[in-house]
This record gives sequence, C-alpha cells and structure tokens, in this order.
Amino acid sequence: MDIKSASFVMSNSDVAKCPKSNLPEYAFIGRSNVGKSSLINMLTNRKSLAKTSGRPGKTQLINHFLINENWHLVDLPGYGYARVSKSDKKTFQKFITQYFERRKQLVMGFVLVDCRHDPQPIDLEFMQWLGENNLPFGIIFTKADKLKPNALKRNVDLYLERLLQTWESLPPYFITSSSKRLGAEELLDYIDTINKEIAEESQL
Ligand code: GDP
Repeated sequence: MDIKSASFVMSNSDVAKCPKSNLPEYAFIGRSNVGKSSLINMLTNRKSLAKTSGRPGKTQLINHFLINENWHLVDLPGYGYARVSKSDKKTFQKFITQYFERRKQLVMGFVLVDCRHDPQPIDLEFMQWLGENNLPFGIIFTKADKLKPNALKRNVDLYLERLLQTWESLPPYFITSSSKRLGAEELLDYIDTINKEIAEESQL
C-alpha cells in the first residue's frame, strides 16, 4: 500500500465521540516508549504525524488519523508508566476497554512489544483480555535494529513459544524497525489486504 495521504482527525477520551464513519479502523497500543510514535510516523511516511497528538495533555487520548481517505489509524495511549497513580490507571483502563468493546469499526488492534524484552505480564494480560473478548489482534515487534539477527530470532521465537503456552494458534506478527524502515511495507500490505476483503464483502 502506498501512502497517498495521512492526516490527523481528532483526539478524545470518549469512544462515543470518535469519528462517525464506517471506515475500517486499526488501533496501535503498547507500553510507553515502545516506539509507537516512531512506528506510526514510519508507516505514514511523515516525520511527526504521531507527535501531533503527542503534545502535552494529548497523550492520554484516543487519536484518529485518516489514511488514504479510506481507513483510520488509531494511536492509543501508552500504558505501563510506573508513576501513574492507581486511579489514573483505572480511568485509563476504562476508556481503552470501552474503546475496544464498543468501537464497531475496529478491525484489529496491534500490540507493540520491544523485541529486546522478555514477554511482559502487562502485554500478555492485555492480549489475553483481547482474546477473551474475541477482539482480533496482531503483534508488532519494535526496534529490531537494536539486536543482531540471531538474538532477534531467539527473542521472537521465545515470545511466540510463550504465547503458545496460552494460545492454540499464533496471532499475525510483524518485525519492525522505525530507524531502519523495516517491516512497514509488510504491515501496510496486510492492512490493505483486509481492507480489500472488507470492501468486497460490503458489495455482496
Ligand atoms: P512511544 O512512547 O511508544 O511513542 O515511543 P517513541 O516512538 O517516542 O520511541 C521511544 C524511543 O525509542 C525514542 O527515543 C525513539 O527514538 C526510540 N525508537 C523508536 N523506534 C525505534 C527503532 O525502531 N529503533 C531504534 N533504535 N530506536 C527506536
């Protein structure tokens, strides 16, 4: 998929106020600092698209971007900041949970994980919750350039093995590096294929 246009639509904390459109939507979520803004900028070929919504006060919001006038990319807040208070965590969980449960246009959530780290409970629990709620998700391994090929393969394999302890089959997964522009095409083509299937189905 070529990116012909990418623009910021809106930020808000209420799923009911998200854009009223039937465009398919793909959400990106992960721990703070996982490389989500960099990934979104790489995917959209823009230097600071994700930062548009990343300005202070806007980070804890649901951010919609319109891509090629035919799908929405959604940048969700980063989770897992140790310094966030318990009540903030609850508020966060509530609106993210509601977004996933209520947003009918959502086709898939992509959970970003840093390829250097062991599987983190917070990510595994979130995937578990998505699975239990029948919400399709994929995994995006970030910062692949930070590991040598062997170490990268070992870490990804370990991650997948860990998932197979809980899941019968593996979700789709992508290995990316925003600094080396790795994995963007594969991920965009994957989204494009699903979008085309949805468009065909809607014409039946
Ligand atoms: P976010 O908090 O998840 O949006 O993370 P950012 O995109 O702001 O990235 C967090 C830090 O990781 C920044 O210092 C980035 O420069 C760095 N980073 C992000 N992606 C990559 C990557 O693919 N490779 C490398 N080496 N660093 C990255």
